[in-house]
Amino acid sequence: MNSDLTRSSAAELAHALGSGELSSVEIVQAHLDRIAAVDADVHSYLHVDGEGALAAARQVDERRAAGEDLHVLAGVPIAVKDVLATKGLPTTCGSKILEGWVPPYDATVVAKLRAAGMPILGKTNMDEFAMGSSTEHSAYGPTHNPWDLTRIPGGSGGGSAAVVAAYEAPLAIGTDTGGSIRQPASVTGTVGVKPTYGGVSRYGLVALASSLDQAGPCTRTVLDAALLHSVIGGHDPLDSTSIDAPVPAVVEAARRADVKGLRVGVIKELGGEGYQAGVRARFDESVALLQEAGAEVVEVSCPSFDYALAAYYLILPSEASSNLAKFDGMRYGARVLPPGIDDPSAEQVMAATRDAGFGDEVKRRIILGTYALSSGYYDAYYGQAQKVRRLIADDFATAFEKVDVLVSPTAPTTAFKLGDKLDDPMSMYLQDVATIPANLAGVPGMSLPSGLADEDGLPTGIQILAPATRDDRLYGVGAALERMLLDRWGAPLLTKAPELSAKGA
Ligand code: GLN
Repeated sequence: MNSDLTRSSAAELAHALGSGELSSVEIVQAHLDRIAAVDADVHSYLHVDGEGALAAARQVDERRAAGEDLHVLAGVPIAVKDVLATKGLPTTCGSKILEGWVPPYDATVVAKLRAAGMPILGKTNMDEFAMGSSTEHSAYGPTHNPWDLTRIPGGSGGGSAAVVAAYEAPLAIGTDTGGSIRQPASVTGTVGVKPTYGGVSRYGLVALASSLDQAGPCTRTVLDAALLHSVIGGHDPLDSTSIDAPVPAVVEAARRADVKGLRVGVIKELGGEGYQAGVRARFDESVALLQEAGAEVVEVSCPSFDYALAAYYLILPSEASSNLAKFDGMRYGARVLPPGIDDPSAEQVMAATRDAGFGDEVKRRIILGTYALSSGYYDAYYGQAQKVRRLIADDFATAFEKVDVLVSPTAPTTAFKLGDKLDDPMSMYLQDVATIPANLAGVPGMSLPSGLADEDGLPTGIQILAPATRDDRLYGVGAALERMLLDRWGAPLLTKAPELSAKGA
């Protein structure tokens, strides 16, 4: 075990807690110290709850001392994306409109973390209402990539990826509607998993697009992701789309880490033109490693994937425009009175609140969504997009008749410079070209660090996709590849992050 315990994996920390070598209070304190040392630069957290985390740690230490049978991750701290409701802790969704809102209840995911005895270190930064690929749309300022502070950490969950990359938490929860767990993982050299739709409860997850949203693990190792997945997964009667089946055997699969005889499909439509050379090189190398380890690799065509981005940017804004209608200055957070009006109507207050409370990207999508849903345009836009969505699900179904998992690069590029794409929404949207199909079809996906791109020395990732409810396959392939890549790169990638090394512990 590393002498600096913020460098340890969650599995190592859990082991040290179990053997009595470390207390949860020590582990939490080490992370709070690390946050104090680096978060002014990284800005991963919107809110740090030192007192609450230490109190939870103390409690779990006492329960352990009393001989109670505890969850394997009991005492291991975690950070939570600010889109999940946390009782007694501010929840802003990266928006001014929810500034100061403190939820009176916990999201199911959060309740499960607490029940497992995992202290919550704080809430992580994100693009406003999870719209974006860089965290630059946060109303509270961007998060910086720990590899290079002048670059983006991905989005919308840049905060949750950056906390684990910067050793400010061993684990974090993200949410993925079109790639917001996987793309940040790819550009920060970390592991991110979007579970099967319905595999993790959405209760208390402030909805962006209800038919696409899914919470999942952000970690530094595949085993850690599996351990966390098994804490947060499972049926929830409070979420009507929750799957009523046991959580897939993800931890077992991660421990087995076997790919012999596994059929791997390389998606023809993802990874060609428009993908950075270094991203492609690392991807090809990973595929070759899988083949060497006994996997059978074939190319698979998913022709409808070419239309995924277009369909997503009609379906997502449509759902978002409806979901965000509840932020009206009457029920939650901010209320802004229109200037110069003595006795404003409810409509005037709503308009003033939404104008001041929402940022440009949120407004852009609300306008797009209401337009796509308006009578006369509904069939041409929203209806058409739903048909494409079906074709994409059909492509997956056909592909999974031939192969066990599909692979592609996670994102077309490594981390770009802060500010580079801010005025160009289309090029920002293109970051998710490879991740969106999984959300549209509801299938699970993982991003695993595949190495560093030669041209810029920045991390990139490989995406692994499996059929719905077969999340275990992601972990089997991911863990096997992780081990081979470790040999290939000589050490965990994160130890090579220059900004981190410079900051020390
Ligand atoms: N970047 C995508 C978007 O802006 C994905 C967002 C997400 O997954 N929350 O819509």
